[in-house]
Amino acid sequence: MNYILQGHDYRHAVEEMLLHLLPAEIPSCTVQPSGDVCVSSLTAENGVARAVARVTYAGASRECAREADITGCDVLARRRLENEIVKLSIYDALVPFLPAPPVWGSLTGVRPAKLARGMMERGMTNAEVAARLRGHFYVSKAQAALTVRAAAVALDCKAQLQPGDISMYVGIPFCPSRCAYCSFVSSSIEKSAALIPPYLDALCAEAEMTGRLLRESGQRVVTLYIGGGTPTTLSAGQLARLMGTLADAVDLSALREYTVEAGRPDTITREKLAAIAAGGATRVSINPQTMNDAVLRRIGRQHSAAQVLESFALAREAGFECINMDTIAGLDGDTPESFAQTMETLINLDPENITVHTLAIKRAADLSDKAENAAKRGMAAAMLEDAGRQLTAAGYAPYYLYRQKFTAGGFENVGWCKPGTESLYNVYMMEELQTIVSLGAGAVSKRCDPATGKITRFANPKYPTEYLGAGERIRAARMKLLAGGGANEG
Ligand code: SF4
Repeated sequence: MNYILQGHDYRHAVEEMLLHLLPAEIPSCTVQPSGDVCVSSLTAENGVARAVARVTYAGASRECAREADITGCDVLARRRLENEIVKLSIYDALVPFLPAPPVWGSLTGVRPAKLARGMMERGMTNAEVAARLRGHFYVSKAQAALTVRAAAVALDCKAQLQPGDISMYVGIPFCPSRCAYCSFVSSSIEKSAALIPPYLDALCAEAEMTGRLLRESGQRVVTLYIGGGTPTTLSAGQLARLMGTLADAVDLSALREYTVEAGRPDTITREKLAAIAAGGATRVSINPQTMNDAVLRRIGRQHSAAQVLESFALAREAGFECINMDTIAGLDGDTPESFAQTMETLINLDPENITVHTLAIKRAADLSDKAENAAKRGMAAAMLEDAGRQLTAAGYAPYYLYRQKFTAGGFENVGWCKPGTESLYNVYMMEELQTIVSLGAGAVSKRCDPATGKITRFANPKYPTEYLGAGERIRAARMKLLAGGGANEG
């Protein structure tokens, strides 16, 4: 949809809201108020900011206004309030044109629980936060309840952090083959097997350099996550070398959780699981996505549901007491009945964690068919509702959540767990509770300053070929990231 700004420069807020409500239409700034258009204006008088949105859509027009008291606000607080009323005025004006309001209401961010946690930290009760999410941001009842629960878990996890605690992520951007729905930068080993040995050399060098800097700055790794891609694309020997290097180079004496993603069952062997256990990992993630063999073939996974069961048994045999299993609602060719069957099969295995994702569509243009979108939304809603029912009945509770762009029906991804088995890394990372140092190609480190809420990102080179030979550049960025230390103080 085209838009016109009058009296303000909150372009990002306007585009974000338009894309949230009309994901298939790329917003574009214009000066011509013709056709489908949103005119967003902002004025301020006597300490009151007033945002007005006039939307013309499919031949009809609607105008809505929102106001905020900005008396005594500093620049940052004023911008935050103005940003909010600009977005809400557009939401109010445009939503009546949609077949149904978004389940997340006017919230556009990927971390709704972070917003809720902020409210709790300012003294609001859980009930007040839920009411605020529903009344002010139009979040649906189910999503508000999920958010409050995730925010409460995050508060508990935050309370356990000590000054100088950080987490570490190590990325293996290789997979045995490419899944149809994947938008991650990962190379299939058919194409890039030769890159793995030099990549591992560079990764071990980065681990040694980072371990030295961490010791010098007095920061301790409390959770470690080896993810991907598919880390178990590496051989047992390569996994042993990587984990051995990490154990030698990094002070892991305060480590509370160590996860290795053994994502694809077609890469899991008894030897690799033994190497992962010997390397010190306490948690593995085995990711079936679905237990429907026809759907697995359709999405390009080269494993069967039977292999998932075998991998799970091997992981238990190797001694893993905390296992996560990922699923995706809304996969091409899946149905609510088949997804319910997937959930039942996985729950019967009794893993400690089950993560339920909603399929993210790779291209916004794929959302242009309104009838198809409505069908996808209905199907995703049915799948998620039933999954929630089954998981709750089996004793799981939601503990973290995040949103992605362009998911079927605008739904979220939720991590569920048995009591006391929350993955701390997932909570720390998703809620931006502490500094995360990330190693490997495409890895993004974040320095979190809890005193100011400021997040600073440091990205490693994106592709393995760029990453090789970038050691000096990464070292300089790592020194900057860790400079000052004690990021969790306060
Ligand atoms: S296993 Fe994951 S990262 Fe690898 S191709 Fe499939 S979806 Fe992408």
